[in-house]
Amino acid sequence: MNILLLGSGGREHALAWKLSQSSLLANGGKLFAAPGNPGIGQVAELVALDATDHAAVLAFAEEQRIGLVVIGPEAPLVDGLADSLRGAGVPVFGPSKAAAQLEGSKGFTKDLCQRANIPTAGYERVSSLDAAIAALARFGAPVVIKADGLAAGKGVTVAMTMGEAEAAVRDIFAGRFGEAGAEAVIEEFMEGEEASFFALTDGATVLPFASAQDHKRVGDGDTGPNTGGMGAYSPATVLTPALQAEVMAKIIAPTVKALADDGTPYSGVLFAGLMLTSEGPKLIEYNARFGDPETQVMMARLTSDLGELLLACAEDRLGSIEPPHFSPEPALTVVMAAEGYPGTPKKGGAITGIEAVENDKLKVFHAGTALVDGQLVAAGGRVLNVTARGANVTSAQAAAYAALDAIVAPDLFARRDIGYREVAREAK
Ligand code: ATP
Repeated sequence: MNILLLGSGGREHALAWKLSQSSLLANGGKLFAAPGNPGIGQVAELVALDATDHAAVLAFAEEQRIGLVVIGPEAPLVDGLADSLRGAGVPVFGPSKAAAQLEGSKGFTKDLCQRANIPTAGYERVSSLDAAIAALARFGAPVVIKADGLAAGKGVTVAMTMGEAEAAVRDIFAGRFGEAGAEAVIEEFMEGEEASFFALTDGATVLPFASAQDHKRVGDGDTGPNTGGMGAYSPATVLTPALQAEVMAKIIAPTVKALADDGTPYSGVLFAGLMLTSEGPKLIEYNARFGDPETQVMMARLTSDLGELLLACAEDRLGSIEPPHFSPEPALTVVMAAEGYPGTPKKGGAITGIEAVENDKLKVFHAGTALVDGQLVAAGGRVLNVTARGANVTSAQAAAYAALDAIVAPDLFARRDIGYREVAREAK
């Protein structure tokens, strides 16, 4: 069959790479990607489709007899693209607009958690500055303030003082995040180590997928501003099998059930951001899609046929297939970002030497790259994901940094300590 993948980041390159190996493409099936990037272009045919133009995506899917559409990023999900495709009978991997509210509205998720008794931080929803200030007084510092809607990771402030907290709510209600900040959530501060957990569901069956830990801050030692993610490793062993079972039973399964009971079943990948507190794992947030860069490390480990798994989700038959299998070897990815990121990145810097560092345990996924007159250049904030598998995280880390240092890209930088928590655990 033919498959269409939507997106253009490192996450989508990793998905495209795995999808290109799927048995679904046997007998002349084609993998298309829109808009993709030069790395994705090595394994898929790139097409210029605008995901906000549902009619155009649908027309392409019908014209090319697409048997599976995979939606990578959150914006088209929250915008209802999956509904448009499903409505026309096209199998699609990704939740409906109603179910994607889990990512699209933090208040929606907090209310659902409260109803279903899912462990998460205590909270209040507020829709005016006065209400927000009054709520802050009840919580005291430290406290967490979140714009309700999608804000590309920039709508969250972990405030250590009341001054910071007040500044954050003033910012939100002054309109800094537009519609996404029409409402806000004030949350209790949770302490612990963070981990990400991914599960596949068709709305009824839930299969655990994998765990990972990412590194959000731009600088070594988790310093500097937040980014989309500077690196990750998988699995996150801090999420022990016992804790994973607890997360499945107390967080993921009740969420899937609550959405099904509401008549808005969730289909796709459920990405839980977790805080491992002294009282057990608590939900920080849900995302309605695969993580970036967590996907890069999960795909580096996945040994199952990704196409089969995603199609089984799309066709509501997850209960009758083999659960996903992974290499026992952990994987680690380091993001190479353009100078200036997460502010204004310097674009146009030349990149060479990628092919020379790749092997069956080392893969370089493209994110913000472009080809200009045949030369690969930086074209965005996060540019490359150097991804390695190893006998343990320490050796995967060494392999990733050796490859990164051999890539010639003078205008890119990277953190030097990705995986440090796990490397320290392995040293014990
Ligand atoms: P993303 O960058 O994943 O899109 P987001 O903007 O949707 O994030 P959250 O994941 O909810 O926002 O929060 C971002 C970060 O803020 C979390 O990874 C965590 O480090 C911190 N954080 C969020 N909520 C809390 C909390 N209640 N207590 C402590 N830290 C928190």
